[in-house]
Amino acid sequence: MIRQVKGKTPRRHPPKKTSNNQKDPVGVYCRVRPLGAEDEECCIEVISNTTIQLHAPDGLKANRNGEFKETQYSFKKVFGIKTTQRELFEDVAKPLVEDLIYCKNGLLFTYGVTGSGKTHTMTGSPGQGGLLPRSLDMIFNSIGPYQAKRYVFKPDDKNGMEVQNQVDALLDRQKRESQTTVPKTPNSRRVDPEFADMISPEEAFTADGVDEDSSYSVFVSYIEIYNNYIYDLLEETPFDPIKPKPPQSKLLREDQNHNMYVAGCTEVEVKSTEEAFEVFWRGQKKRRIANTQLNRESSRSHSVFIIKLAQAPLDADGDNVLQDKNQVNVSQLCLVDLAGSERTSRTRAEGSRLREAGNINQSLMTLRTCIEVLRENQMCGTNKMVPYRDSKVTHLFKNYFDGEGKVRMVVCVNPKADDYEETLLVMRFAEMTQEVEVARPVDRPICGFAAGRRQRNQAFKEELTRRLEDRGGPVNGEIPTILSQLLQSFPSLPASEIAGPNDDVTLPRLIEALEKRHKIRQMMVEEYNKTANMLKSMLQEQDGNVVAKENFISEQRGRLGEKDKMIQNQKNEIDRLEKKSKMLEYKIDILQKTSNIHEEDKRSLQNELESREQRLQRELSDKRRMESRMQGIVSDTKLKWEKECERRVNAKQLEMQNKLWVKDEKLKQLKAIVTEGKSENRQPQRPSREKDKVPPKRSASPSPVPSSYNSSQSSLCSLEPIYNFNQMVRPDPSSPIVSVASCISEWEQRVPRCPRQSSQSPPDSRKRVQGLPNSLGRRRGGCWAREHEVPAQPADFEADHMTVPPVRPLHRRSHSAGGERWVDHKPNTNVDLDTVMQPNLPNAIKVSAPSEKALSKCDKYVLTHQEVASDGEIQTKLIKGEVFKTRGGGQSVQFTDIETLKQEYPASASRKRRSSESGPSHEGERTDGDWTDVETRCSVAVEMRAGSNLGPGYQHHGYPKRRKP
Ligand code: ADP
Ligand code: MG
Repeated sequence: MIRQVKGKTPRRHPPKKTSNNQKDPVGVYCRVRPLGAEDEECCIEVISNTTIQLHAPDGLKANRNGEFKETQYSFKKVFGIKTTQRELFEDVAKPLVEDLIYCKNGLLFTYGVTGSGKTHTMTGSPGQGGLLPRSLDMIFNSIGPYQAKRYVFKPDDKNGMEVQNQVDALLDRQKRESQTTVPKTPNSRRVDPEFADMISPEEAFTADGVDEDSSYSVFVSYIEIYNNYIYDLLEETPFDPIKPKPPQSKLLREDQNHNMYVAGCTEVEVKSTEEAFEVFWRGQKKRRIANTQLNRESSRSHSVFIIKLAQAPLDADGDNVLQDKNQVNVSQLCLVDLAGSERTSRTRAEGSRLREAGNINQSLMTLRTCIEVLRENQMCGTNKMVPYRDSKVTHLFKNYFDGEGKVRMVVCVNPKADDYEETLLVMRFAEMTQEVEVARPVDRPICGFAAGRRQRNQAFKEELTRRLEDRGGPVNGEIPTILSQLLQSFPSLPASEIAGPNDDVTLPRLIEALEKRHKIRQMMVEEYNKTANMLKSMLQEQDGNVVAKENFISEQRGRLGEKDKMIQNQKNEIDRLEKKSKMLEYKIDILQKTSNIHEEDKRSLQNELESREQRLQRELSDKRRMESRMQGIVSDTKLKWEKECERRVNAKQLEMQNKLWVKDEKLKQLKAIVTEGKSENRQPQRPSREKDKVPPKRSASPSPVPSSYNSSQSSLCSLEPIYNFNQMVRPDPSSPIVSVASCISEWEQRVPRCPRQSSQSPPDSRKRVQGLPNSLGRRRGGCWAREHEVPAQPADFEADHMTVPPVRPLHRRSHSAGGERWVDHKPNTNVDLDTVMQPNLPNAIKVSAPSEKALSKCDKYVLTHQEVASDGEIQTKLIKGEVFKTRGGGQSVQFTDIETLKQEYPASASRKRRSSESGPSHEGERTDGDWTDVETRCSVAVEMRAGSNLGPGYQHHGYPKRRKP
């Protein structure tokens, strides 16, 4: 704002005025007058003491389809219909009058459509005096005792004020008294009934702090601006009733301080409210007359009443006004009653009257434009030219808007419906006007004389009078006592009577005395002059001092002002920064909230991520487990089949060898028969070397073991062909040579001797197996029933083994001694599964690998075997068997039963539905593998017992022990 002002068109400041950066907005007040008739439609409502609301009248609403809704307008203050003239004055005009007394200018105007109460507000009526008479009254109430004598202040023709000396003032006064017959009734409130009782004494206001050491004088002017012409309403023109002279318009001029004034305008010095109002009324009358004479409407003209207050300090004595033009201060208060603001169309004017109305509106339009431009310049920092000169009104008041001074406007509104549209325009203008700022008037420097001069002088005069009276006083031109005392101090005069013509003594003596007195007088005059000069120079010095001090003070004041300005600027800056910081705090708040939300989001996302990762991990580990299980299964199956293949190959090999051997034997027999037939008497020969060699070779295959071997090799428990071979084919040169035929016959003869030893049945005894004694068959059947998990061997497998050598009878341990004793074989590789179902074997010998020692002590064997089931779970099998003593002193185990312990994942259970009880097709497959694995783990040889339907039988050969040397 401050910078904007500086940026404006250079404005020539009056020298007296100090630059001022403080600004006040134009004070806009709103006064709502009462409706003319009670039943009239009202379209204004006072909402608060600062706001009014306009409602579109019913007719308008209907016409415009409800386009006009309620609008509110705010002002510095709103005065309702009940507001008294006094209240209005107190709020609106009193501060302006106070300013006027403190040497500050003011402008007050009323604005509104015709009939809205502008004149009522400004002038009022008897008993209801408006702002104008009340302002005058307050001025005179305040400065009354301090008014200068008439004509002491005299306006020059250039808007300035001079101070006349006492004599000139006196002469002027005398001249006035002789010319006019103004009744001297300054203190009686009375007169013209037309304006009597404008203000009742009890409603009077007085300004405080009037400078008692100054002298005041009030001058009033009254002008009318009509059709953009200025007329002086107080001009005294000789009235010619026959041919009335049309009033002469006045021109606007700019004074040396660049203030605008009406050149040649009458300024009447008034000494009382009554006198002032009388002058105003005179002008009012003149205006009325002129309007009737010239057929004008008074509502089309602006009337401007200017109150000028001149004030000047009293001299050092406090007696007279200081005769110094520079010390005279003139302030003015303009009270303007503007023309009706209604548009031309509303006036039913025609012809020249229309033109007038247009002009009137033109001047109000100009006022409006000026206000608009001012506002724009101030608010936007633009530098547009304000068109003050476009109309007299704006031109005249240019200084108020452009320079400094308080500007106030009373917007008058009539709430009646007819005025609604005009009132809307008035409101808009008024609201806009409020946004214009005007420089605040500054305090003028006061005169440098000591304060209280008037009173001191008065007091001195009173004191002097009192003292003189006390001493018998110098009443009515008598020589004062002080003077007589002075005279008495002179040497007394000699007798001045001349004795005679020859008296030469008296005269010379008198002359001498007189000369003496003359000398003394001269001396005294000199002394007096000297003292006076001294005093004068002292005074001048003091004066100088005082002036210097004053300068210093004013300098300090200037600095103070600057400091004030700086402080103000700082304050503004602080305000701005505070606002900014508030804004930033608010932003921070928002950002913090946002970041909190984001953090929460982040946390939840992280949680989700973690849970997903965990799930992923779980799935991965599941997958890995599955993979390993699958691998285990695959490798197990592979191993099983490899072994299976190997076994089959071996079996086939054995079979073929057996066949070969049988053929060989037959061939041998044939050969023997042939040779026997050829040489019956020949001694039995030893078989040829080649033939000798064959049987041992053949015996390497599982062959029906000759009985001779059975006894000699009874310690052998193994059915392993290799071991049999090793034991059996040990070349014994002492062994008798047995013929093949005898061997066969012997072997054939053994069968009926050992009917229960089915294992020793010949290769073709398969059919005989099926014809086993019932008891055995039943037992085996029972076994089958119990050993439901024992895998069924493939038929060909069984058949293939029909040719295997017979197994020796197994000796079961007695169960009687102290119940059963178990070998609990748990391989080290087993995993502790922590299952609830655990086998409880009391009195068991726990081993991690099969040992002959343990087996020899027990009659039952159980192997805890773990494997991976096809569904990936670890499956525990308890493979039970019975321990038999072999004839060779070893132990063999015949497996009898398998118990399966299986764990299931609850999650996978429903899906897999695999259990030990599931379909037999799977079971078979699985148990096949199981067998293979058990085989591996036991590290024992496995062999299908020939002719046994019991399934695979395990025999412990005491292998590790035997290998020991
Ligand atoms: P304007 O000057 O705006 O054309 P006037 O001041 O002449 O209007 O007012 C027109 C009429 O309304 C006058 O008779 C006046 O007495 C009356 N009037 C205006 N304002 C008020 C008011 N506030 N209270 C009472 N009467 C009012
Ligand atoms: Mg009026």
